[in-house]
Amino acid sequence: MKPISLEQELNPWEAQAARFDFAAQKLNLNEGLWRILRYPSREIIVHIPVAMDDGRLEVYTGFRVQHSIARGPAKGGVRYSPDVTLDEVRALASWMTWKCAVVNIPFGGAKGGIIVDPKKLSMGELEKLTRRYTAELIEFLGPEKDVPAPDMGTNEQTMAWMMDTYSMHMRQTVTAVVTGKPINIGGSRGRREATGRGVMIVCDEALKKLNMNRESTRVVVQGFGNVGSNAAKLMSDAGYKVIGIAEFDGGLFNAKGINVDDLLEHRDRTKSINGFSGAEAADSKQLLITDCEILIPAATENVITSQNASDIKAKIVVEGANGPTTASADEILADKKIFVIPDILANAGGVTASYFEWVQDRQGYFWKESAVNEQLEFILKESFEDVVHFAETHSVNNRIAAYMLAISRVAHTIKLRGIYA
Ligand code: NAD
Repeated sequence: MKPISLEQELNPWEAQAARFDFAAQKLNLNEGLWRILRYPSREIIVHIPVAMDDGRLEVYTGFRVQHSIARGPAKGGVRYSPDVTLDEVRALASWMTWKCAVVNIPFGGAKGGIIVDPKKLSMGELEKLTRRYTAELIEFLGPEKDVPAPDMGTNEQTMAWMMDTYSMHMRQTVTAVVTGKPINIGGSRGRREATGRGVMIVCDEALKKLNMNRESTRVVVQGFGNVGSNAAKLMSDAGYKVIGIAEFDGGLFNAKGINVDDLLEHRDRTKSINGFSGAEAADSKQLLITDCEILIPAATENVITSQNASDIKAKIVVEGANGPTTASADEILADKKIFVIPDILANAGGVTASYFEWVQDRQGYFWKESAVNEQLEFILKESFEDVVHFAETHSVNNRIAAYMLAISRVAHTIKLRGIYA
């Protein structure tokens, strides 16, 4: 790949584009298809006025980017964070296109975001912000058009508000307009844990491939939110030894293994992982380079970069988060022969269960949790196999293999449909 500046390295859109260009070149992708797929098909910017609790009027900026609708309705989360940028949302939208294609589900890719720190808003302010954002996007959303879901800073409650706002405009209840809803208003059993469960499934597959076993596998997880905490809990229940957890305000280490149930209880009670008596306090950045078998970055982008990749000691990196590794760091990890399970495969359990939720909402028939988990496992194991097979047959790393597989699937659909006037 071409040499780039640190600023470019840390721009998620550039990170996505670098991998896309490389994979497209390896595939010998037709130049016209390359142009169609390199850029999003629609980008919407909205300015959202909200009456705050203290009487002030505040205006927030929000985005929705639809990268592709070639394989089905656009699909992707909504992020509330002060760091949201249009480039970040663009990158996340295109990753959704590739992710849905890797796991072969009938969706395109989208992402949304609002520049806001949700921790600083009251519940009432968040509700108004969410409802107004949804209303501003009303004609672009819909079960057959674009289906949002939770991401960083949003949750089941946010999805309930979005579903209700959309339904009020349509004058009927439309549960399938968003996924990741509470179970009693059309959510799916197993969706909350699905991304973490998917992370565990691909870890299990990697262990089989590398002749390793759960009991002697030490795991470090960065981010103890939806993805990280569920992955840590499921994996420790399954016999993995979770020795480190890194959060933005501090980390924990216990060489004998952290009791994740106790930590969840502590975090729910104190709202932080700090001060937990079952582990020593540790530096979050150091935890990333701690000796372990599996490192799971499950927090945010750009945490494995050209600055720290050479210090990573894990044998396997499993990207629970989207875009945690920069393109420059990829090359360093490849030189170190680290087995990377890229985000567009590793965290695809979430969108796969979202697909099941959308199917259930449209059928009005809800599955048992065991059925959700069984279908999830089937799809992720098959996708892992597809990616690894592609990597071996094309002599590329797993990330480029996943991009190549995804791009070839989307390009094939575009050719069949003839999506160009
Ligand atoms: P979340 O908001 O529930 O949790 C994120 C956690 O990471 C929080 O606890 C936060 O404090 C922590 N964090 C943030 N920055 C950090 C840093 N620099 N160092 C350490 N910890 C940090 O979000 P989530 O839904 O778990 O999403 C996490 C990542 O996974 C994001 O990249 C998201 O796009 C991706 N993802 C989420 C899902 C899903 O179903 N929720 C699906 C696919 C991908």
